[in-house]
Amino acid sequence: MSVVVQTESDTVTAEARSSAESVIDLYKAHINPGLARLLQFGGFDDLEVSASGCHVMTASGRRYLDFLGGFGVFSLGHRHPAVVQAVHAQLDRMPLSTRTFFQEPQARLAERLADVAPGNLTYTFFSNSGTEAVEAALKIARIATGKTNFVSTIGAYHGKSMGSLAATGRDKFRQPFEPLVPGCCHVPYDNLDAAAAAVDERTAAIIIEPVQGEGGIVTPRRGYLAGLRRICDAAGILLIVDEVQTGLGRTGRMFACEHEGVAPDLLTLAKALGGGVMPIGATMGTEEVWNRAFTTNPYVHSSTFGGNQLACAAGLAAIQVIEDEDLAAAAAIRGEQLLAGLNSVKARHHDAVANVRGLGLMTGIEFTKQDYAEVTINGMVRRGVIAAYTLNNPCVIRMEPPLVVTADEIDEALRAIDEAIDEAVEMLADLPDGDA
Ligand code: PMP
Repeated sequence: MSVVVQTESDTVTAEARSSAESVIDLYKAHINPGLARLLQFGGFDDLEVSASGCHVMTASGRRYLDFLGGFGVFSLGHRHPAVVQAVHAQLDRMPLSTRTFFQEPQARLAERLADVAPGNLTYTFFSNSGTEAVEAALKIARIATGKTNFVSTIGAYHGKSMGSLAATGRDKFRQPFEPLVPGCCHVPYDNLDAAAAAVDERTAAIIIEPVQGEGGIVTPRRGYLAGLRRICDAAGILLIVDEVQTGLGRTGRMFACEHEGVAPDLLTLAKALGGGVMPIGATMGTEEVWNRAFTTNPYVHSSTFGGNQLACAAGLAAIQVIEDEDLAAAAAIRGEQLLAGLNSVKARHHDAVANVRGLGLMTGIEFTKQDYAEVTINGMVRRGVIAAYTLNNPCVIRMEPPLVVTADEIDEALRAIDEAIDEAVEMLADLPDGDA
């Protein structure tokens, strides 16, 4: 007769398992059954309960290295003490705005942003997310130019509210909601001739990501952004640079458009601006654009929660940390290490890996088929490394760790992806091709 010894850790694991299962059931019953199944398939069938620095802890007691970094949200890592402290202090005074009196955190953050941003982006409209930041940019461009149309790019991701979605360049997300806001066309990314040809007398602005994030971490050739600036200047239209994902150090510079010395007329931020603690969106613009947009009616565009004290306190602390810890420089150095490591991974797996690319700590690894990416993500998660594919290109696994990531943590993630690809190749070797 065998005796089963129940240890304390077995009990913890069993309890964690059953609480995870009950939450997953709630997702299926009340949130989104398809999403629940996708997360389970990806290997994320646990509950996140706490996080610190580059790590996320789950109910079952596992500790994960976060190489997704909240799609750019956790540039400072999780719960950076300076941001947490600033938010706590603000929470104890006044978290949200009456929207009647003036309030200091918003004014100070707008001033700091004007300080660090390229060119003459002296004004900021605050909102709560990336898509709202883009939505505001599109509206402001329309009112400032008196024109209606936009040139965007294939593969672009600008958000999923109706205006931003019109600029987003993937049919799978667009088609179910058509007709979208009219007047937005999509040209191939990294192609100046196509952009120039698409501009006409109705065009208000070109909207562009300096690196396409969700499009598959697509880095354009040098000169692309500067070329777009010239096209906009020649046509007398606005350049909107969407730095929701690239902004605030991620690519090795405070703003990715600084790599080319380009200053846009409108610039959008979100994700990292909240320091990994608060949601926030920001749309920056020049005085000229602002005067044309807001002079007649200061309430022409507004948001109840946008610019609230908690979010702005987080933003102020985040910018301070990025500067004090020189996180843009850290991103450049660690990004080189990561890209070099990914190139070695590619050399070892040339059948499965088509390409690796990146700028700073915004890196991606493109697989020859989607199945490889899916199985590799699952293998990485089992090895304790969080990863995900890019929304507009499921063949690409993105690696966007916090900018505070260490050299050892990068090596750990590289080992995990290397082993996970080995496993994926072996597992898929005898299967027919899935649909990509
Ligand atoms: N713009 C870019 C460049 C993005 O990467 C994203 C989100 N991935 C958005 C806009 C939309 O941001 P949100 O999900 O906060 O609405």
